[in-house]
Amino acid sequence: MPIGSPALGSVAMTTSALSGARWLLLDDYTSEVDVTPGVCHDIDGLFVDLEPVPPPEIFSLLGCDPAGPLLKALRHMGTERAWLPSIALVPVHRPQQRPARCRQHEHGCTCDEELIDVTVVDQRPSAARAGLVDLDLRGYIRLLPEWGFPEEKPDVMGFRLAALNNEKLGECLDVTGVFRKRPAAPVRPVTLIGFRPEAPLPEVVEGRRITASVVAVQRDGRIAGGAGVLSATVVSVCPSRLGDGLLDIALDGGIEEPLPSGTREIFQMWYDGGPAEPNLWACYDRLLRHEWSGLAISHRLQGLPDKPAGTTYHLDGRFVTDIDAFYCAIGEAINGPGGYFGWNLSALDDCLGHGWGAAGPFRLVWHHSDVARRHLTPGYDRPGHRLRDWGPSVELNDLLEIFSEHDIEVELR
Ligand SMILES: [Zn+2]
Repeated sequence: MPIGSPALGSVAMTTSALSGARWLLLDDYTSEVDVTPGVCHDIDGLFVDLEPVPPPEIFSLLGCDPAGPLLKALRHMGTERAWLPSIALVPVHRPQQRPARCRQHEHGCTCDEELIDVTVVDQRPSAARAGLVDLDLRGYIRLLPEWGFPEEKPDVMGFRLAALNNEKLGECLDVTGVFRKRPAAPVRPVTLIGFRPEAPLPEVVEGRRITASVVAVQRDGRIAGGAGVLSATVVSVCPSRLGDGLLDIALDGGIEEPLPSGTREIFQMWYDGGPAEPNLWACYDRLLRHEWSGLAISHRLQGLPDKPAGTTYHLDGRFVTDIDAFYCAIGEAINGPGGYFGWNLSALDDCLGHGWGAAGPFRLVWHHSDVARRHLTPGYDRPGHRLRDWGPSVELNDLLEIFSEHDIEVELR
């Protein structure tokens, strides 16, 4: 995400001259220098009603020699204990025959796949070899589009199976149901309304490919934050009903990861200057609280020095009913209304370093901490459609541990 890059300063000045423009298209992908294809008043289709979580899939581990928690799970088949949060499938490559895309790392290689939220639903003796079993599992595969999709099974000798903490779950000779073509995400074409191309730019014509970051502009021309990456081809260009030489440009595709429709309101708040008081995120659901923090990232106080070590911050814990609420609340505790201080555990850890508003160590007074104590409890977290983020819940104790590692004194009130 290029938000906050030096180039954006000059871009902001350009757009301030274009009154009413809310969105800036910034091409930071196809050329060496950031280019602005143009600005527009609105983007029809930018905010969407997200698809529901798909039903779970069925996978089979063939010729399996289960161990550890997987062995335990299949002994408890038919009960809720036949469940595992995660099974990593680590391919065992044939000697000297690693695929070109394969890169080794500490615990496996980049060909690894991960099954999540897995229930063992059936087992039978394997035809592969006496003593081995075939297991049927119901669950999901963690798809990370930026790493490509698991469509073709690598040519391997088998798979090692591992849990989240790299505990051994055994091995298997083959898998089915994992490597296959899955239905593509629905195409949600967008139309750029009231588009004004910025010079110099080849004429916007049908068939032209546009790849650009969509950046929200505030009323005063400042940058509010990123709204995703647009990658699509121009289908039609016509004069905009907004007049003034502006264009409406229909595209054959849209934002790679579209924003949930409720996010429009949050962008509107930033367009109007940003949240002026704390806890305005509290009325939103989990998903939108996450998007709130995503937009707050762009508003971290660029270039401003951290407040000095030893400062006392007050976290208003009244609305910390989920982990995304905590990230909103800590952001505002440190950096004021609409502030950011991490939106996941590793980002929080980064922010506790330096450069995000608060030099450490500091003191954090956590008011109404009983709310977090009731809600940030052990369990498995399925945050809506964000399948990629499913995993063991972040507990209050995990947060306190991170603070403690950074010598932050937390007073729970
Ligand atoms: Zn590999």
